[in-house]
Amino acid sequence: MSEHTAAGGDASAVISADLLAILVCPVDKGDLRLEGPTLVCTGCGRNYPIEDGIPNMLVEDDR
Ligand SMILES: [Zn+2]
Repeated sequence: MSEHTAAGGDASAVISADLLAILVCPVDKGDLRLEGPTLVCTGCGRNYPIEDGIPNMLVEDDR
């Protein structure tokens, strides 16, 4: 789908590339990959939602 949106810009840019470049997974310091509106750790596979351009890096303690 390559429809243009009047809102302007790349719809996939929910987070800036600069910010993405410095972010790492808080659990294992793995690289994060953008998947739609979510950041996914390439290491442990956890995912973090992006809310209003700010990634929610809260980690549930799942022990
Ligand atoms: Zn991770």
